[in-house]
Amino acid sequence: MMKWRQCQNKDCGVLFTHCPQVPGQRYCARKECRRAGKRAWTKRKLASDPNYQQPENGLTERKIEKVISIQVKFLTRYRYLLRPV
Ligand SMILES: [Zn+2]
Repeated sequence: MMKWRQCQNKDCGVLFTHCPQVPGQRYCARKECRRAGKRAWTKRKLASDPNYQQPENGLTERKIEKVISIQVKFLTRYRYLLRPV
């Protein structure tokens, strides 16, 4: 089930759909927000889990990218529906 969330990027704040596959997702699919989200996520993860090391093969990252690409498609469609007539 999709849930609406607000992007935590101060400069953005857009509402986006939250994918259950990406727990704790707090940023929308925009490039700059994803980057901000990744930074915050890594920071949180490093703070909460001392054993955690940034994935070097990018496996998790690729998985997230896939979910986000689906989300971008949805967002584009949603924006189209909300376009001013
Ligand atoms: Zn955003």
